[in-house]
Amino acid sequence: MYQSLGIDENIFRIGESTAAALADRFAEIDRTAEICQMKVVAAMQKNRVSTECFESSTGYGYNDLGRDTLEAVYADVFHTESALVRAQITCGTHALSLAMAANLRPGDEILSPVGKPYDTLEQVIGIVPAPGSLREFGITYRQVELLPDNSFDYDGIRAAINEHTKLIEIQRSKGYLTRPTFSVAQIGELISFIKGIKPDVICMVDNCYGEFVETIEPSDVGADLVVGSLIKNPGGGLAPIGGYIAGKSEYVEQCAYRLTSPGLGREVGASLGVSRSFYQGLFLAPTVVASALKGAVFAANLYEPLGFPCVPNATEERHDIIQAVTLGSAERVVAFCKGIQAGSPVDSYVTPEPWAMPGYHSDVIMAAGAFYQGSSIELSADGPIEPPYAVYFQGGLTWAHAKFGILMSLQKLKEAGLLPGKG
Ligand SMILES: *Cc1c(COP(=O)(O)O)cnc(C)c1O
Repeated sequence: MYQSLGIDENIFRIGESTAAALADRFAEIDRTAEICQMKVVAAMQKNRVSTECFESSTGYGYNDLGRDTLEAVYADVFHTESALVRAQITCGTHALSLAMAANLRPGDEILSPVGKPYDTLEQVIGIVPAPGSLREFGITYRQVELLPDNSFDYDGIRAAINEHTKLIEIQRSKGYLTRPTFSVAQIGELISFIKGIKPDVICMVDNCYGEFVETIEPSDVGADLVVGSLIKNPGGGLAPIGGYIAGKSEYVEQCAYRLTSPGLGREVGASLGVSRSFYQGLFLAPTVVASALKGAVFAANLYEPLGFPCVPNATEERHDIIQAVTLGSAERVVAFCKGIQAGSPVDSYVTPEPWAMPGYHSDVIMAAGAFYQGSSIELSADGPIEPPYAVYFQGGLTWAHAKFGILMSLQKLKEAGLLPGKG
């Protein structure tokens, strides 16, 4: 089968021996998935999810049982008082922007104690001037860099907290940076430290790419709000759109009033037929995340021995699903992405090319043959064409597909004569 799909015998063998050596790691990943699966099932049973929940509403969406029950399910999965889970939240950036705009007022300040936030938030906050940014509403921003060893700068954070500090933005995943992703335990320590200084500050965690990677979530260790995208982990590959905000009722309610309108809040917002996909996606999410994690661990163990630095490295514990591989040249980044594309179930015949993208300084190449546009819980890769020529990839709805896509990336590197040594 692999041969007929274009994987040669040598690459296939390397893949087999790499995967065989990972049995213990994979068992550990499966164990986490099992616990997360039980969390999801328990939340669905407790809230009496029924066939009626899959009905659709239109128009105002009053009394949408499926939507309201799903929000209760999310609140139970994340162990929070409340949750807002909506198709009207268009993406992760929107969810984060909403959570901040809803809970901040002129004169308030945001603090990021973990360095620069995710690229798209620069314009939301107004770090980069943009129409409609929080900055235009008189909301200020401060950040404290991580220390050189990537630990929290506790002295710096203490000094940065002041009478205006209202919301702390903690990004769990490294995103497309080279710092490590924080574990939930580390986030818990950071939140306790901050609450020790200012107990009433809102600690919000950008949870994108982190859901179900561990058995606990940031909301289990003191986060007031956890925020993420449904076309990443918690949508399980089935949610066609959407975002969630889970946390303390008073803060989540503010988000509902900002999303729709003061006075209306969560009462409106038709589910337009997506409820079943939201439920089923959440149900599948723990094992889908496990598949993506296996792919990431597999890739690090395949590429690192070939001399390509990996973040996280081959043996490190995982706290999100992103894998960075430093390939060292533009040609290799292109070949890698072509392999991921060629391994996709959709659009496998197209050839990705580097292109100028809004928000990026250099050309970027993106590979995605996904069922849902931009869905990065599906196997996808992108790489800015600039030193150190690293490619970031994530996702994989099934482990078998993640494995195949990664082997295909190696195959394309080999065919282009870009592997070190004899190849
Ligand atoms: C993906 C991501 C976002 C933004 O989500 P979009 O759905 O792309 O808008 C924000 N933060 C992190 C860490 C992410 O990975």
